[in-house]
Amino acid sequence: MTTPADSGGRPAALPLLRGQKALVTGANSGIGLATAIALGRAGADVVVNYVFGREAAEDVVSKIQSFGVRAFAHEADVSDEGQIVGMFARMMEEFGTIDVLVANAGLQRDAALTDMTVEQWHKVIDVNLTGQFLCAREAAKEFLRRGVVPEVSRSAGKIVCMSSVHQIIPWSGHVNYAASKGGVLMLMQTLAQELGPHGIRVNAVAPGAIRTPINRSAWDTPEAEQELLKLIPYRRVGDPEDIADAVTVLASDLMDYVVGATLYVDGGMTLFPGFATGG
Ligand code: NAD
Repeated sequence: MTTPADSGGRPAALPLLRGQKALVTGANSGIGLATAIALGRAGADVVVNYVFGREAAEDVVSKIQSFGVRAFAHEADVSDEGQIVGMFARMMEEFGTIDVLVANAGLQRDAALTDMTVEQWHKVIDVNLTGQFLCAREAAKEFLRRGVVPEVSRSAGKIVCMSSVHQIIPWSGHVNYAASKGGVLMLMQTLAQELGPHGIRVNAVAPGAIRTPINRSAWDTPEAEQELLKLIPYRRVGDPEDIADAVTVLASDLMDYVVGATLYVDGGMTLFPGFATGG
């Protein structure tokens, strides 16, 4: 099922998710793309959600299928209730159920507070927060209906919310984004509390600075990268695969007793690096 050549130089993954069905939102770029591929490599069948960029989504599907598992691309805007209900209905038809939801889709619309339009505010909250609510709701309905299937997983379902270090680090000029991720923290913890008694695990991964299109200007010149590295004690910018591997393990039974946790995958960005030499 996995070969070293498929793994981009990383150690071949164990089939940690063999026989499981996963859905990744925003899976045709950056972190979502790497995560969808990692879940496929770990043995899951994968729905590759995207909102635009069909060709890129179909490329991800082909890569996942090369591992001998099933995959299909589905266009849906995570902030549109009807489209999300439709996407889950198709997943039930084609895969029969869902075991892992990775609520990853997200975007930024940056502006200083006094320049920020209400459209910029709503867009980010709608995609980053309401989108996670809608997908979690639809996944939970199926987890609750089906319950635990012991041959597949110890839990009745897993939700991994893609958060950010900005769920706890305030971020000037990005109030909509920081508020959305602060909301994701409380969404995740509340769902973990509400769904835990039903055998459903809800957790979050909080990336630091990862090299993807969302934050290109922060790393695409040597000067920008040097500035960014000052914020990262481990002194390297993360790769999408760093997050994908964390999601894969968090969604697997290796982490079965982890509930309501945020796994920071950030090279130490949340360690108050400004205090390393002073304070
Ligand atoms: P990206 O721009 O490469 O990917 C974002 C994905 O979300 C794209 O596929 C995009 O098309 C999709 N998307 C946007 N709006 C959507 C919608 N309405 N419906 C469905 N899909 C939609 O950026 P990324 O860095 O891979 O971001 C993925 C997630 O990781 C986001 O939630 C982001 O907030 C989070 N994150 C990223 C970083 C980083 O440094 N890159 C750090 C912290 C958190």
